[in-house]
Amino acid sequence: MSALVSVDDVHVSYGEVAALRGISATVAEGEIVGVIGPNGAGKTTLVETISGFHDYTGNVGYRGQEVAGTSPSDLVAAGLVHCTESRDLFGYLSVEDNLELGAYRRRDDVAGRLEFVYDLFPTLADRSDQNARTMSGGEQQMLAIGRALMGDPDVLILDEPTLGLAPVILQDISAGLEAIRNSGVTILLAEQNVTFTMNHADRVYLLENGTIEREGDPEALQGDEYIRTAYLGE
Ligand code: ATP
Repeated sequence: MSALVSVDDVHVSYGEVAALRGISATVAEGEIVGVIGPNGAGKTTLVETISGFHDYTGNVGYRGQEVAGTSPSDLVAAGLVHCTESRDLFGYLSVEDNLELGAYRRRDDVAGRLEFVYDLFPTLADRSDQNARTMSGGEQQMLAIGRALMGDPDVLILDEPTLGLAPVILQDISAGLEAIRNSGVTILLAEQNVTFTMNHADRVYLLENGTIEREGDPEALQGDEYIRTAYLGE
């Protein structure tokens, strides 16, 4: 498997705060890669850096091209699409308008992708005329993921998609994630929900304090005593 995304010895600081301190990681085609860690570990900073949002030292590559030389918008056009933690929906626009805006850099087959998203999350089809701000938290998360899919991603970055969601909605998000993977999309998932991540990811990186503390497949990490006590409450 070739790496679609590669991060090599990356450092990112916010003034005096060193958020990433020498991170190296890869995401290969077809994988779901999870990034877990506590509040402030650097998960969001890492995925935002991959999407071209931050200055960094080290190397960040997408399809072998250095991200620093490419605008976030051009990365979207090249198939790297980011669904942010804050969802960033247009609250006064309808569900369908929000979805169509997700296709702003790839205008081919918008109807086909809309159909894919509506099949994935039928609630969005039922509510296509509803204003985004009046949707429930879970529905808004589906809409945010759906809008990212309208960009026809090769790599979909999801930042905390389960944040604040009830277990019943988590099932819909879980099913959606598997369907997205089965459609051929590579997924990079930053999550505080360790169990959710372990259930879906092929490989997981544990970030603490801006460094990678552990990495491996979920089975190996679930057998790691530190992870069991610190993150799985065993
Ligand atoms: P959470 O799970 O709470 O979202 P995280 O693992 O995603 O946390 P980051 O949001 O990447 O962590 O934050 C990493 C560190 O960088 C934290 O110490 C945070 O306070 C700091 N940080 C993040 N954004 C900024 C910013 N814009 N300005 C200053 N410091 C920041």
